[in-house]
Amino acid sequence: MEQDLIHLQDLRAALDAKRVSSVELTQHYLDRIAGAADLNAFVHVNAETSLAQARAADARIAAGDGANQPLLGIPVAHKDVFVTRGWHSTAGSRMLKGYDSPYDAAVVERLSNAGMVTLGKTNMDEFAMGSSNENSYYGPVKNPWDKLAVPGGSSGGSAAAVAARLAPAATGTDTGGSIRQPAAFCGVTGIKPTYGRVSRYGMIAFASSLDQGGPFGHSAADCAWMLNGMAGFDARDSTSLERADEDFARGLGKPLDGATADKPLAGLRIGLPAEYFGDGLDADVRESVDTALAEFEKLGAVRVPVSLPKTELSIPVYYVLAPAEASSNLSRFDGVRFGHRAAEYRDLLDMYKKSRAEGFGTEVKRRILVGTYVLSHGYYDAYYLQAQKIRRLIAQDFQNAFAQCDVIMGPVAPSVAWNLGEKSADPVQMYLADIYTLSVSLAGLPGMSLPVGPGRNARPVGLQMIGNYFDEARLLQVADAFQRATDWHKRAPAGV
Ligand code: GLN
Repeated sequence: MEQDLIHLQDLRAALDAKRVSSVELTQHYLDRIAGAADLNAFVHVNAETSLAQARAADARIAAGDGANQPLLGIPVAHKDVFVTRGWHSTAGSRMLKGYDSPYDAAVVERLSNAGMVTLGKTNMDEFAMGSSNENSYYGPVKNPWDKLAVPGGSSGGSAAAVAARLAPAATGTDTGGSIRQPAAFCGVTGIKPTYGRVSRYGMIAFASSLDQGGPFGHSAADCAWMLNGMAGFDARDSTSLERADEDFARGLGKPLDGATADKPLAGLRIGLPAEYFGDGLDADVRESVDTALAEFEKLGAVRVPVSLPKTELSIPVYYVLAPAEASSNLSRFDGVRFGHRAAEYRDLLDMYKKSRAEGFGTEVKRRILVGTYVLSHGYYDAYYLQAQKIRRLIAQDFQNAFAQCDVIMGPVAPSVAWNLGEKSADPVQMYLADIYTLSVSLAGLPGMSLPVGPGRNARPVGLQMIGNYFDEARLLQVADAFQRATDWHKRAPAGV
């Protein structure tokens, strides 16, 4: 395989020119996955199924389909939160160990129809609850940049797979940061689109008013191509956005309207929220973000101070609302219809209790308890309803900020990746690390992470870019302009 053949556009060209076949490409990645088993990035691979898909893609390429199917024959890894036929679908839980779905999630179906080859299912925090991938029943994922470090969570397997070049692109979901934060910790590019852009059909539910799928790739351009394949209205998801399909890649390589080739971002107002640069932000992350902002200025953008005054409240609000929704969503796992059932029990109630006690891990149980509590009679008004009201104010803060700027930038997380085990005994420490990502999810806005490091211990730093609703194409255009002028996104972990 050619060394630099990692970007989707280059893969497309190589496949169409027959310099490489989809089968060769798929085998190349399957070999890399097998060689990197110590990362624990994948929970299921099934080489025969992958290669059969690749053979079908090669036949379509031979028939000339590559011209209108940009993703045809390109391998992809799917977060194990998306149900798939032909691979187990576990959401990182013992509860769903060995579970075989009778259907494909919309995301998987769309990308498979577009001709992508599924390489396997990636490891994740159980039911997408976590920020470090240490809550997986299948064991933690290691960060390819430093095997002592966490990869971030909950889509840690997908981010690590792209970083270690075990897949050119991967899918993930972001409920409170689970695309942006692992992308940041693993030095790859990821985007969480506007809530409702990507169908939740077949995405194992965590907190339905927040869950949103999106891609990981080696660049903003790759993410744009992936999003084109993933996004679109789906009548099977009641919160799917009914909007015409659009080309998220339309701005790539072009200056913004009214700007010029040498200053492609001229006129762009970058809002910098004071609350994202205050106490609690590590100096190394601040420095890397500052360096990146200076780059954006060179490209013609200007900085505008803005304020998101409710940022701090996003943590208690999210950790009331997400568990509330989770406690309801996870009630379906009762030992009867899905997944694990205890081997011995006295009666039906005992069967429910034992199956759930055995099937769920500690963090999932904690959230079910919190969620049940905040929804219970007498506490609903004080917690759940109050949190809903503040959620609204958090969304309003962003609209006030967007009156003064076009895009908001800041860090993705207060620190670079921490060590495995460092925060796993202290859930509150783990929750606090989500400070810069949660409010974007609560507001339903699109957000991206771009690699801009390195920070402490040569671990990657992520720059967060937040757009207004439906502004993904511009976010990707701005990120692409930055990546054309810089090379952080091209760096790979040592030995990769
Ligand atoms: N870290 C957050 C949580 O634990 C977000 C997870 C996510 O986005 N799925 O809930």
